[in-house]
Amino acid sequence: MRLRSSTAAHLSAELDPAAESATIRDRDSGIGVALDVFPHVRADSFEEGAGVYLLSHYHQDHLHGLEKDWSAGPIYASELTCMLLRELSGVSESVLRPVREGETVEEDGLAITALPANHCPGSVMYHLRSGDGGTALYTGDFRLDDEVRSGLDGLGPVDTLYLDSTYADPRYSFPSREEATKEVVRIVSEAPTGGEVMLAVYTIGKNGIVEAVARAVGKPVYLTARTLRVYKLLGLGDFVTGKRDETHLRGYSRGYFDEHFFMLPRERRRKAVVVIPTGWANDEPAGAHTRGGATFHYVPYSEHCDYQELQEALRIVGARRVVEI
Ligand SMILES: [Zn+2]
Repeated sequence: MRLRSSTAAHLSAELDPAAESATIRDRDSGIGVALDVFPHVRADSFEEGAGVYLLSHYHQDHLHGLEKDWSAGPIYASELTCMLLRELSGVSESVLRPVREGETVEEDGLAITALPANHCPGSVMYHLRSGDGGTALYTGDFRLDDEVRSGLDGLGPVDTLYLDSTYADPRYSFPSREEATKEVVRIVSEAPTGGEVMLAVYTIGKNGIVEAVARAVGKPVYLTARTLRVYKLLGLGDFVTGKRDETHLRGYSRGYFDEHFFMLPRERRRKAVVVIPTGWANDEPAGAHTRGGATFHYVPYSEHCDYQELQEALRIVGARRVVEI
C-alpha cells in the first residue's frame, strides 16, 4: 500500500526537527528502488546496470528481475536469505555476499551495514555511508521491536530514509507479534473438537505462529508441498507435516479460503475454524463471524510497523528526506 501524500505530510510533520524539511516523494514504480542518492546501488530491485544489489528479504515482491542465472553483480543478503536464493531461486553461490546483522562490509566505496528488521526469517535493513559521508537507510519491510530499536539507535539523522510505508495510516494499530500469536493460539486451542482448524500461512513469514500453534496443541500443522519444503529449509520441520491424517491443523495460503469457502458448492465445503493472522485485520469485522459455512477469525498480527511505530522509528533515526517504499 502506498502512503497517501496527506498521510505522508502528517507523518513527517510530527517527526523530530531534523525531518521538518523532509520531502516525501510518491513512488509508483513498485517495491524496490535504485537508491537515488547512490546511483550504483539497487535495493530489492534486480534491473541490471547497477554495481551493487541489496536484498532485504525473500518475498516475491522484493525479487523483481532476479533470474536463476543472475550474473549482473554481487547480491548482498542475510545468510538465511542467501540460502533461500540458492535453494529456491537457483542463484549461484558465486554472486551471493552473505552479511550478518550488525556487520559492515565495504563495496564500491560504500560502507554497508545490515541491521535487524523483525519482518520475516532472514530479513534485514541496510544502512549505507559513502566516502564523502552521505548516508541512507533502506528499511525494507520491518516491524519495530527492541532489537530493531537498538539497531537504529545512534545511526544519527540519515540524509535519505527509504521507509516501509505499508501501514502508514493512523487507523492501523497492532498488538505486538507475541500478543497476536497468543491470540491465535487461544482461538485454535478453544476450537470445537472434531473439526479442522485452518490457518492462513505464508511460505516465508508468520512462521512463528505455526510453530506456536503446533507446540500448544501438540500436533503438527499440515502444509502443502511447497510450503512444507520451505518450512524444512527454515529448520521448522518438527512443527509441520505433509500428511493430512496426522492432524486437524491445516495451513493454507489466503487464496485457498476464497476458493474453498466461497467458490465451491456449499455441500462440498468442510466445516472449519479459520484463523487469518494479518495486519489488514483492522479492515475486517472484529471477533468471530461466519462466512461460507466456516467460522472466521481475523487476528491483527503484523510483520510491518503500525502507524505509531513508523513515527517512533522516524524519531529514533531522524531523516532529512523520506522516500516511501
Ligand atoms: Zn515482506
